[in-house]
Amino acid sequence: MKLKFWGVRGSIPSPGAEFVKYGGNTLCVELCIEDLDRRIIIDAGSGIRLLGNELMCKKAPAESLRADIFLTHTHLDHILGFPFFTPIFQKNARLNIYGPVTCEDDSLEAVLGGQLSYRYFPIRQAELAATIDYINLKEGEYDLGDGLQLTTKYLNHPLLCLGFRFEYNGKICCTAYDTEPFQNLFTTDPHDPSFDPLMAHEGAAAARDENLRLKKFFSGADLLIHDAQFTQQEYDNAKRGWGHSPLEYAIQTALRSQVSRLALFHHDPMRTDAQLDQLAHMHCDFQASDSTEVFFAREGMVVEL
Ligand SMILES: [Zn+2]
Ligand SMILES: [Zn+2]
Repeated sequence: MKLKFWGVRGSIPSPGAEFVKYGGNTLCVELCIEDLDRRIIIDAGSGIRLLGNELMCKKAPAESLRADIFLTHTHLDHILGFPFFTPIFQKNARLNIYGPVTCEDDSLEAVLGGQLSYRYFPIRQAELAATIDYINLKEGEYDLGDGLQLTTKYLNHPLLCLGFRFEYNGKICCTAYDTEPFQNLFTTDPHDPSFDPLMAHEGAAAARDENLRLKKFFSGADLLIHDAQFTQQEYDNAKRGWGHSPLEYAIQTALRSQVSRLALFHHDPMRTDAQLDQLAHMHCDFQASDSTEVFFAREGMVVEL
């Protein structure tokens, strides 16, 4: 498998001279299984626009184009590139779009296609020329054919967000795009009027169980792509409950799960190249003495699995 990062930035595209090295496009990763000639795309942030352009350049005019697009969830930074993904306008393109249903009454097609209405965009969803199938995902195991397996797990985010574990030919690639540590939802402060010792105990147990399940979900991965939007200090000061992880937690998670390589991902849109370099110097240089290689994902970076 060969993986390429097309967008690594969270929340909103961040163009500008201070964002050139790591890139300003929002989330999109391409996973190619070369011996099967299969292409998996994980999320459709603004990075998917360049990927679509490259796919169109590579193929012959009459050649059909096939891709499986997996959406972790439908927050805007993960889908805003979809209307600019050129293959959706091609008759000979066949796309399967997988994702969790996150609005009870609306289908995945309606949620994603909501961007393609005259209110927001000059072309409507009904005008797309590609053949597109929408497939709902829940937590579970999926056989994607050709020996390719997918396991999904709900993460901790304000909107249902799925973690993915792709396995093929003994190689494992896991993603946790938008998530933060599971924590006790009930107060543990006996002086708080809402304190209930039983609920506090059960809340702690539930959080511990979910964190253990995540550890197992990532275990032994050759590559884990993990949310690292904040530093621990930022998280503790003001960002707890926002649905994103401190990078220190992402590193601890990878070490606990004995992951070979950890790609820190979903960079804060305010974090400049110089600041990311500084964090990399502080947090990634220990890798030589450890079994887990840690790096900050950069747009255009390729990882062989
Ligand atoms: Zn996001
Ligand atoms: Zn999100």
